[in-house]
Amino acid sequence: MKHAVDPGIPGSLSIFERSCGYCGARFRVLATRLPDDPRKEEYACPECGKCYALEAAGEPEVQLLRPRSDGKNDRYQETMF
Ligand SMILES: [Zn+2]
Repeated sequence: MKHAVDPGIPGSLSIFERSCGYCGARFRVLATRLPDDPRKEEYACPECGKCYALEAAGEPEVQLLRPRSDGKNDRYQETMF
């Protein structure tokens, strides 16, 4: 039996930081990527709730690094109407 893939590491962990385009908060996103199973997953800005999407194998984890900088406390509203 060959173990080509370590079961403890199902995919490659992708970590990046980004700023929210709506409220200016900065946060880190941790997502696992499986090259043979690309899926669209959504994550939300921890401060205003604006949704972003990326390709990942599961729900991304979001860590807030810096609070929002727009001085407001409203939630982002998707304009669907
Ligand atoms: Zn935001």
